[in-house]
Amino acid sequence: MIVAVTGGKGGTGKSTLSANLFFYFIENYKTALIDCDVETPNLPYLTGSEDLSLAKEVFIEIPNIEEGKTYDYKNVCKEGALLKVGDKLIFIEELCSGCKACGINSNITFKKKSIGKIYEKKFGDSYLIVGKSNLGERKTAKIVTETKKYALSKNCEINIVDTAAGTHCNVVRALINSDKVLIVTEPTPFGMSDAKRIIKIVEKLNIPYKIVLNRYGISDLKVNYDFKIPYDKRIVECYCKGESFLKYDDLRGCIEEIANWIIRG
Ligand code: SF4
Repeated sequence: MIVAVTGGKGGTGKSTLSANLFFYFIENYKTALIDCDVETPNLPYLTGSEDLSLAKEVFIEIPNIEEGKTYDYKNVCKEGALLKVGDKLIFIEELCSGCKACGINSNITFKKKSIGKIYEKKFGDSYLIVGKSNLGERKTAKIVTETKKYALSKNCEINIVDTAAGTHCNVVRALINSDKVLIVTEPTPFGMSDAKRIIKIVEKLNIPYKIVLNRYGISDLKVNYDFKIPYDKRIVECYCKGESFLKYDDLRGCIEEIANWIIRG
């Protein structure tokens, strides 16, 4: 079972939900919690996991352009990373996604470039897996794909994929192949409008989804939702300490309801 936790807007509480679902599931299932918000992963803090181990490094292949060498290249780079002006090639490494299209029918060769790392921590037979891009890296989509691939190789019964906020390429990559999606929103105008955008994407991907209304009670805005988590000081306290809020029976009940949908549908 792969369940993705997403939400158009940042700060709606999707990572808090992911972390609490993880702590709930590891009581009975071999579970992977996968942080695919590779530019700003925060699940290590929310699970009290400062002590992660390096699992693997993620590389792309970029053109190896040598000064003075003549290259047979037509301007095919869609990213605008490689441009031929007269006989000269201008390469802007930061824009290169490593797609290698410029190497087709060309004498361009490639070299490896590290773009990020994957870290892990064991919780009994379960795992926290975290993708993290190198500082300043702009082309991070491959880290999302590799982080998921690495996590799925652990053969866990439940895989919780925590996506980045927004509706960009990295979010779609994290959602692809999920069996179910949880869309976390909050009763604010921004929360609702961004939720609509992510719902459209999930519907296009044809994945069953449910809406979780977080911070229920902070406004009177009418929002359609399937599950709710109240606005509660105890959640904020647990968040700050990197702990789960499952020790409170009423809050545990909120997570249990969502977990039942994940397992049973
Ligand atoms: S590898 Fe792809 S993105 Fe990079 S320069 Fe070549 S065509 Fe452009």
